[in-house]
Amino acid sequence: THFGFKTVAADDKVSMVANVFHSVAAKYDLMNDLMSLGIHRLWKRFTIDCSGVRPGQQVLDLAGGTGDITALFSKRVGPTGKVVLADINASMLSVGRDKLRDLGLVNNIDYVQANAEALPFADASFDIVSIGFGLRNVTDKDAALRSIFRVLKPGGRLLVLEFSKPEQQWLSKVYDLYSFKLLPAMGQLVANDKESYQYLAESIRMHPDQDTLKAMMESAGFAEVSYHNLTGGIVALHRGYKF
Ligand code: SAM
Repeated sequence: THFGFKTVAADDKVSMVANVFHSVAAKYDLMNDLMSLGIHRLWKRFTIDCSGVRPGQQVLDLAGGTGDITALFSKRVGPTGKVVLADINASMLSVGRDKLRDLGLVNNIDYVQANAEALPFADASFDIVSIGFGLRNVTDKDAALRSIFRVLKPGGRLLVLEFSKPEQQWLSKVYDLYSFKLLPAMGQLVANDKESYQYLAESIRMHPDQDTLKAMMESAGFAEVSYHNLTGGIVALHRGYKF
């Protein structure tokens, strides 16, 4: 049946995403710095600055992986606040935990293995949810957005940092060349893993553009949804509120 086919396809995506992140976990941070020339650090800092985070708040860093965004939030919420780093992948979580411990960030961070589509938290638990370069990997994005909406407190906000659609056609062309040619080659050279980086390039191409993602957030219940293009729209930061 059609339904049966859809289920199989979804299962395939889940196990493929799992394999990709198991195999890239150890080299993930190095590859991020190489692939973005370090610019991902600026995108992440911008995300924190747009979050309105205050000391004492409860933050969920979803698909938090190796914990860059968690680290930034951890410093901002301080000892009276808390950051939960949630990720579906045990390998990414354990690389993240080791890294944050080495940075001396230990007191206000929890680690939870969880699927964004069905979050294991009570309703209205968080002031802020962030998902950085994660939504693109989630099979049922609408279910994830609804689940995030549920765990936010009224007045809380969601920040989605994700690859998006370049604003200019020339940039789009350069970027396609980069992601379909150079990126897999770099993945092969540095991580001995061409396929994972091919998957990353394809998943970026398939991801909804700025206005589509905005509409998806609105359908899940978010209000005052807006986005800000970064690096010419290669990346966009979307923000929406739960009222
Ligand atoms: N947020 C980190 C960053 O910006 O560096 C990590 C981003 S990494 C590209 C994407 C992460 O999403 C991986 O760690 C992966 O395991 C996680 N992920 C994929 N599907 C997920 C899901 N359904 N629920 C939670 N996390 C998921």
